[in-house]
Amino acid sequence: MECGRCDAPAIVDRPYAGDHLCERHLRRSIEERFRRAMHRQLPRFPGGTVALAISGGKDSATAATLATAYFRRRPNVRLVALTVDEGIAGYRPPAIRAAAALADRLGVAHRIVRAADAIGATTDEAARRLDRVAPCSFCGVWRRQLLNRGARDEGADVLVLGFNLDDLAQTVLMNLARAEIARMPRMAPHRERRPGLVPRIAPLGDVPEREAFLYARLAGLPFDHSECPHAGRAARNVFRDVLWRLEGEIPGTRQALLRTHGAIVALLGETAGGAGAPGTCVDCGEPATGTRCRGCAYREALKTSVDLPVPS
Ligand code: SF4
Ligand SMILES: [Zn+2]
Ligand SMILES: [Zn+2]
Repeated sequence: MECGRCDAPAIVDRPYAGDHLCERHLRRSIEERFRRAMHRQLPRFPGGTVALAISGGKDSATAATLATAYFRRRPNVRLVALTVDEGIAGYRPPAIRAAAALADRLGVAHRIVRAADAIGATTDEAARRLDRVAPCSFCGVWRRQLLNRGARDEGADVLVLGFNLDDLAQTVLMNLARAEIARMPRMAPHRERRPGLVPRIAPLGDVPEREAFLYARLAGLPFDHSECPHAGRAARNVFRDVLWRLEGEIPGTRQALLRTHGAIVALLGETAGGAGAPGTCVDCGEPATGTRCRGCAYREALKTSVDLPVPS
């Protein structure tokens, strides 16, 4: 199969776009989508500190590499890479080594935030003690908080996440299926500043997972692709499978889900207070929709080792 833009052999087909691309044109296309997303998500950025969330995986490696190139000629932009160590034996150490190698290659300072220090427990320990809760529930909440805390401590004006198109479309589908509409405006990219919350952007959000992987491979980026031992219990797996089948039958479903998300956020914005007024957790001071954040609710559950209810 030939590339749709030149005579070179295609390395990827893109049914959603109705074309095939060679290596050169795939890389160019990803760089262009990333650049456009940056313009859209971070318009008229005056300069400051940009935190790059790097997990050691392919998506954040691609996003951090493209963001570093994007800001290369901006001397008024300081970059810092952040990695959360959730404490997952066998899985996290090689990923952290890959993240450190990436930061080194990009010439960016690297800071690691450890759940054991900041939360008082690792994901492995919490998974043992809260054995009726899917570990991704608390691990994901804690990681989000630790990234926010790390970015805030660095004085960051924005936090760049590695979410790809598949990740975002899965989250929209999960929120729809669970009638969690109030969560829609809280998804990255953030359009406004909220107290205590470093705005998160997702400039890889137009790039499917497979293409982000190919980019990382073709660019020779250091990344680790082992799978987390707790991932099998994640509800997201079901949505990933459903979306995969939907996309196979109806190419463009992922982009349509993101448009649905945009329409809902716009509608909520027209309703007074529709986005949910952000508050502050009485225990830890992190942003919370109720009086207490979900991270603290999980920490409390750990102390007593009882199953939750956790506020949304
Ligand atoms: S798969 Fe789940 S438990 Fe594992 S690192 Fe990700 S969120 Fe945490
Ligand atoms: Zn080509
Ligand atoms: Zn809290």
